[in-house]
Amino acid sequence: MTTLAPSAPDVRGSGTLTILDPRDGSVVGEVVEADRDEVAQAVRRARAALDGWARTDAAARGELLHRAADALRERAAEFAALNERETGKPYDDSLGGVMAGAGTLRQYAELGPVHRGHSLVGGRYAGDYTVAQPRGVVAAVTPWNDPVAVACGLLGAALATGNVVVHKPSERSPHVGALLGEVLSSVLPVDVLVTVSGGGAVGAALTEHPDVDVVAHVGSTSTGRKIARVAALTGAHVIRENGGNDALVVDADVDPAWAAAQAALGSFANAGQICTSVERIFVHRAIAPAFVEALAAEATARNEQRLLGPLVDGRLRDEVDAQVRAAIEDGATAVVGGSVPDGDGSWYPATVLTGCRPGMTIMQEETFGPVAPVQVVDSFDEGLRLAGADRYGLAATVLTASIEHANRAAADLDVGTVKINAVFGGAPGGAAQPRRDSGAGFGYGPELLDEMTLTKVVHVGLPQMPAPGLPDAHLAPGGTDTVTTSAADAGAAVTAGGGPATPLTDADADADADGDGGDSGRTPHPEEPAEGGDEDDEGTTTGGDVPRVHPSDPAEG
Ligand code: NAD
Repeated sequence: MTTLAPSAPDVRGSGTLTILDPRDGSVVGEVVEADRDEVAQAVRRARAALDGWARTDAAARGELLHRAADALRERAAEFAALNERETGKPYDDSLGGVMAGAGTLRQYAELGPVHRGHSLVGGRYAGDYTVAQPRGVVAAVTPWNDPVAVACGLLGAALATGNVVVHKPSERSPHVGALLGEVLSSVLPVDVLVTVSGGGAVGAALTEHPDVDVVAHVGSTSTGRKIARVAALTGAHVIRENGGNDALVVDADVDPAWAAAQAALGSFANAGQICTSVERIFVHRAIAPAFVEALAAEATARNEQRLLGPLVDGRLRDEVDAQVRAAIEDGATAVVGGSVPDGDGSWYPATVLTGCRPGMTIMQEETFGPVAPVQVVDSFDEGLRLAGADRYGLAATVLTASIEHANRAAADLDVGTVKINAVFGGAPGGAAQPRRDSGAGFGYGPELLDEMTLTKVVHVGLPQMPAPGLPDAHLAPGGTDTVTTSAADAGAAVTAGGGPATPLTDADADADADGDGGDSGRTPHPEEPAEGGDEDDEGTTTGGDVPRVHPSDPAEG
């Protein structure tokens, strides 16, 4: 197990994390936070494992990720039960998240070996190709709302591409995070994955560390901003998948009951603790009464049947409740829910608010709870405009029977993901690139492999061969004398840029597949410069058609 053992007293966080079960407030357990030295030690250990892991064949890394997925699945029930106790996420949902995490590891196990580059033909005998190389040490800083699924995406993509990872799970789900580190590390080489426990201060110590090459953060916008500021100084590459304030626009021509079911799913799934939860609903006036009635019925059914889990803790519940109360004070009406229930735990009911307006905090800020705020609009265009008038840019959904409206929404909504006629259900393995306050970079999909790697451009040209008759310093590779064949052979040989004829070496002769005795047996391309090529300042010849090695290199010739 590579979770750092807690030790020194100079803990930067609170020292010990006490986790309460949000269903009843009982103690789940305590986890001691890593201190700054332990964070540095974790980075050092991961760095030491980098070379071996980066040099491991991609297929072998993929095989180990498959084994990691197997190990995760074998203990899925244990993970799900622990996740439910730590965060309140109902067992079946928790299990779904664990299985999704295992599935993501498998996807990256398969995608890693086929992660490929590009090529560009720069001349008949010259070209560029690209290779992806690991960036180095990845600090993966993750949240609690789907702790296994989210972490497995970042870990899988980072490890598949030859990076090593220091994972800092959320302080609200540290037991699940530590167990994940233990299970995955049981099949991975030592220190390829190291887990550190702790809160925001520990995350800060990790992301500030100068030997971290990538910071991949999934979490709130305010934390993402802090991380971006720090990374601007350390130079780490940053991937930020942050908060959202997703809109749902309901057109006049859809079934109000179906639209209400979609809205309820979007607002209440995982008790509203999903980054892409529906946060603002703009419904066309023509169907608004029927829609609100059906949405209220959906919420009431969830509350009566206790289908929602609790919020993760009292702190989050207070934040959600404060937003709801402020909206009511500003003139909104709680048609269902809207107040904290009596009893233990951090429960909050499915809540439907009507009479909402854009100026209300609940419409401007992410609400990480089961709240469906509704505003009636007079046209689809008005709904589209209000949906787009937001500082977040994660995702948005439109429900419409009009292909024209759907196409306009897809084109005009300034968000990373536009969903047409389904609030959830993107393809497994799909990409997402948030905008504005919702983050930056791809946090999912095959594109995450690109984020986790550096692209190296390799430019390949033909070598310049020694000209005949020059002093006998012309040794063939390996130190043997250049073998000159006949003068005719020498005269026929041409260099890459149409340079002087050169003698053949043994090696050339071996490689001379067509047996004609030429250096490559080729005739210069008519568009190449005449023999002698271009001459640079140092008097060496270069092919005029050879592309520049780097866009900033001066053009040759
Ligand atoms: P958070 O940002 O508070 O915490 C996430 C992680 O960041 C935790 O591990 C935390 O310890 C760490 N952290 C906190 N302060 C830090 C600092 N100064 N430096 C470095 N690390 C620090 O977020 P949260 O409350 O745990 O998660 C909920 C948020 O995550 C919501 O806003 C939700 O929308 C977002 N989220 C986004 C996505 C996405 O894909 N866009 C997915 C899941 C959750």
